[in-house]
Amino acid sequence: MAGAATARSLVEAGHAVRVFDKGRGVGGRMATRRTESGLRFDHGAQFLRARGDGLRARRDAWVARGVAAPWGGESRFVGVPGMTAPVRDLLDGLPVALETTITRLARDAAGWTLTDAEGTATGPFAAVAVTFPAPQVAALTAASGLLLPGPERAAYAPCWSLMLALDAEPGFRDDRLALADGPIALVSREASKPGRDAGHRLVAHASPAWSRAHLEEPRAAVRDALIAELGKVLGRTLRPAYAAAHRWRYAMVETALGEACLYDPGQRLGAAGDWCLGPRIEAAFDSGRALAGRIVANLKAAR
Ligand SMILES: Cc1cc2nc3c(=O)[nH]c(=O)nc-3n(C[C@H](O)[C@H](O)[C@H](O)COP(=O)(O)OP(=O)(O)OC[C@H]3O[C@@H](n4cnc5c(N)ncnc54)[C@H](O)[C@@H]3O)c2cc1C
Repeated sequence: MAGAATARSLVEAGHAVRVFDKGRGVGGRMATRRTESGLRFDHGAQFLRARGDGLRARRDAWVARGVAAPWGGESRFVGVPGMTAPVRDLLDGLPVALETTITRLARDAAGWTLTDAEGTATGPFAAVAVTFPAPQVAALTAASGLLLPGPERAAYAPCWSLMLALDAEPGFRDDRLALADGPIALVSREASKPGRDAGHRLVAHASPAWSRAHLEEPRAAVRDALIAELGKVLGRTLRPAYAAAHRWRYAMVETALGEACLYDPGQRLGAAGDWCLGPRIEAAFDSGRALAGRIVANLKAAR
């Protein structure tokens, strides 16, 4: 979301952009997993909330065009048909290179060159916006011998996410079940979200404490442990038709920077992400837009 918001804002200000993402699709933690048999799960972020005017205006436009829809009340909205939809919409028509892991940034008189894990170099670019999770921003600047202090101050909680398909009703009728204590923090019924297929698919997120305690355990062991824990919550033994676990190492921001973004006008290098402002999609959106604003002002002043 931070990268997409940066890119769209730069384009709206008249700049040309190139977007690189190491993922097979865009969206980052606004993610939808599609299994080989065609089951879909939003296994990352469950919903977005717009508190400020910036995202609210964008959300209203998404709702009008069927890219997002309300889910579960209390101003919660989801992407349609999956959580990636708003990010895909922001990037619509822009050049996006997928499965491209950027491993090095270098700057000379012509501008910035980006090198990926295959050794392919692309550039020159007038400015660079790095919108990875904070530890990955810090790793990239360190590997490139660059100074952009700040990301090392941010901290995240991990999250193990369980995806389940059941043959029968899961035993609760609400859209979601939020739990204050215990290993499971949140359970969502996927089919209750607008624009999804019918069927008894659940996504359960483990609590930060449980996820941290089991962070390095094998995926199959975590999957089985979470199935057992979810069974306790739902009061039945679960025999899922499909089950998988996904580990989000950097899931929810616990310590944010408290600044909208980082930008060094001398280097024309900046960074944005939820880690600047807080643990939510809106923070990533606002951070990306703030970074675009800094870049636009910087390039304008240099003309
Ligand atoms: C399980 C879970 C549940 C959540 N629930 C909610 C929720 O209900 N509501 C809410 O508001 N927020 C929720 N969040 C948080 C929300 O998902 C994030 O705050 C938001 O999506 C962060 O966006 P971002 O753009 O800052 O980072 P990301 O979404 O992490 O995007 C970073 C991008 O950088 C790319 N990248 C990283 N390294 C490289 C590299 N070297 N080269 C190229 N590309 C790279 C990644 O592929 C990724 O696309 C949840 C998160 C998780 C994990």
